Amino acid sequence: MTYSPAHTSPVSARASALSGNSLTELLVLARAGGAIDLAVGTPGYPDISGGMIAEASGAMLAGHNQYEHPAGESLLRQRIADMLGDGADPQTEITVTAGATEALYVALIASVDPDDEVVLLSPGYEQITAAVGLVGARPRFVPLHAPDWRYDPADLAAAFTPRTRAIVLNTPSNPTGRVLSRAELEEIAKLCEHWDVTVICDEVYRDFAFDGNRHVSITDVPGLAERGIVVGSLSKSHAISGWRLGFLRADPERTAALRRVHELTTNGTAAPLQVAAGRAALTSGLAVVTREMSRRRDVAQEIFSRLGMTFSPVEGGCFLFADISLLTEGRQDCGAFVRDLLERSGVLIVPGSPFFSDPAAGAQYVRIAFNRRIETLREAERRIVGV
Ligand code: PMP
Repeated sequence: MTYSPAHTSPVSARASALSGNSLTELLVLARAGGAIDLAVGTPGYPDISGGMIAEASGAMLAGHNQYEHPAGESLLRQRIADMLGDGADPQTEITVTAGATEALYVALIASVDPDDEVVLLSPGYEQITAAVGLVGARPRFVPLHAPDWRYDPADLAAAFTPRTRAIVLNTPSNPTGRVLSRAELEEIAKLCEHWDVTVICDEVYRDFAFDGNRHVSITDVPGLAERGIVVGSLSKSHAISGWRLGFLRADPERTAALRRVHELTTNGTAAPLQVAAGRAALTSGLAVVTREMSRRRDVAQEIFSRLGMTFSPVEGGCFLFADISLLTEGRQDCGAFVRDLLERSGVLIVPGSPFFSDPAAGAQYVRIAFNRRIETLREAERRIVGV
């Protein structure tokens, strides 16, 4: 008798559904051709602190080379709690993860079951949608409307059902540059309370809010604070994306579940780097870094509006999300536009489509990273407009 399995592929349906990183092919082309990369979020600003690098090698030489406590090295947890400044107890409410990427995945696994519904805003960070799919949950998208990327409150209310288990937010947002206002968060809180839903909020760009916009954490909003999981990271704020240092902040009950999942996922990120980050006093919201990032935002806005792109001023984060339809007059979608710009000018930016639940709805948008040195942005300008 021959055994005939019911499945036909060695790859799970969940893994098959993952589209992979849409940028990889373009990045290879760009790097081979010496292009300026305004695509990936890898920080070109701020600079990594020399003190932190010295601490890292020092930590290895001092013998911190074995497993750490899975919840995270204790001084680093304390520093993260201090940085958040919301009274989190590092013993029971903070968990160090391998970047915000692991944190998001762990938060979803610990909060939702397969077939539960998860409310997401679209356009949004594509990894969030992919992670929701990977845990077997169903995204319910709330459309955000250009040019200022706000939702219609009726659409938001309609997205919540008895099957809703969580909502995932990201403020300041990648890619839209929106900073959710207190009023918006309070509106979301009412729905979360009514439907008894967990809120997972990716706040990795918390230090970068510009003009009069202030980042409001969900921990500061009654109704969300009690049911919230904050996802954070040192990747961008401290320019150490390769160190893979992220964190989760949640109440003790949720934290216990998050830590159990985390122990199965990575069981902790690099021990010497945790020690080093803990020893180098972590600071957040340093006025000078925020001001400098805002200058880079201004330069990017000036360059790309001169080129003919349109957008609302970026409220926060490190990305400009721009409409190219005046430039293309509908003759080119964002993918073709990005390739063309790369070939013509040697500057790489990102097509907007992958950030939308319906990729066709994003055909006229591109994303530009401005966490770069001013000279890099100016060089991109020279290449594009020939000044
Ligand atoms: N969340 C958002 C919104 C991001 O833009 C990024 C980085 N592109 C991440 C999470 C991932 O951060 P980390 O390097 O900490 O995994």
